[in-house]
Amino acid sequence: MADQGPENFRAGYAALIGEPNVGKSTLMNGLLRQKISIVTPKPQTTRHKVLGILSTQEFQLVMLDTPGIIAPRYALQQAMMAAARSALQDADCVLFMVDAAHPRKAEDAIHREAFTMLREVRRPVYLVLNKTDLVEKPLLLPLIASYTAAFPFKQTHPVSALTGDGTAALLESLHRELPVHPPYYPLDIVSEQSERFFVSEIVREKIFLKCREEVPYSTTVDIVEFKEREEGKWFISADVYVERDSQKAILIGKKGAMLKDIGQAARVDIEQFLDHPVFLDLHVKVREKWRDDEQWLRRLGYSS
Ligand code: GDP
Ligand code: MG
Repeated sequence: MADQGPENFRAGYAALIGEPNVGKSTLMNGLLRQKISIVTPKPQTTRHKVLGILSTQEFQLVMLDTPGIIAPRYALQQAMMAAARSALQDADCVLFMVDAAHPRKAEDAIHREAFTMLREVRRPVYLVLNKTDLVEKPLLLPLIASYTAAFPFKQTHPVSALTGDGTAALLESLHRELPVHPPYYPLDIVSEQSERFFVSEIVREKIFLKCREEVPYSTTVDIVEFKEREEGKWFISADVYVERDSQKAILIGKKGAMLKDIGQAARVDIEQFLDHPVFLDLHVKVREKWRDDEQWLRRLGYSS
């Protein structure tokens, strides 16, 4: 009974850090048992700092899903680095996730940069080796040894975000890492992101899944109308921005087939998410070099 009662309640933040595709979104969605951030097989789909909240009778864990540690190239990527940094500053604990099936060497320059950043923020850092379902157990030991030699991780957790193996132990450790503190959010909500945000992420996810190569990376989605009606379908209208006419043509497809396909797939997920039928209206627009335009990024919420 020692852990029960409001005087022992724990609450705090955990930041998820790792390169694109290591499984950050999958882990978070698994822990929250709900689809909060977007999971796709292509890298770099989570641009925003998506916030998921796990509440139990004993603790509340606020998860900060960071956009990944990557070298800044466009203004957009600089905004992503800033988001990663700010997630770290806010965290009581940091999860540094690595794909154990395709590990980068612990001494790799990309890791060294990340470790420098992590030393600066002085937070307890856990090494999370993900995708252990794809790796022979004995191969994990030398991997763990090389990583723990490169950075003073407080704990190491081999997990499979996909099967859930090891995630309960991870969650239990995170629970103990949190300070005694009243909940930051009402106990019954899972995210503070708006419905609009999730709707635009669902559309973007479908574009990632259906389009090839450079098109998805040049795309952003702006929800221009979101009308909840008393009766019948809700009306959602979204502008899909690309950088060039050629990309617009690909996205629309022959006789509009591609856009229709994207719209249909997105509508199914949006209806499930909102628990309500919707009419989804998509318009493709060209805006050159939107990724390098600070003002535009701010308008779309990529930087503050
Ligand atoms: P993120 O970019 O770090 O958020 O990575 P995602 O969560 O989007 O995952 C990238 C890909 O790896 C997806 O295809 C996932 O299904 C897959 N994946 C994630 N975790 C695991 C795991 O534990 N095992 C396996 N086999 N695949 C995984
Ligand atoms: Mg992700």
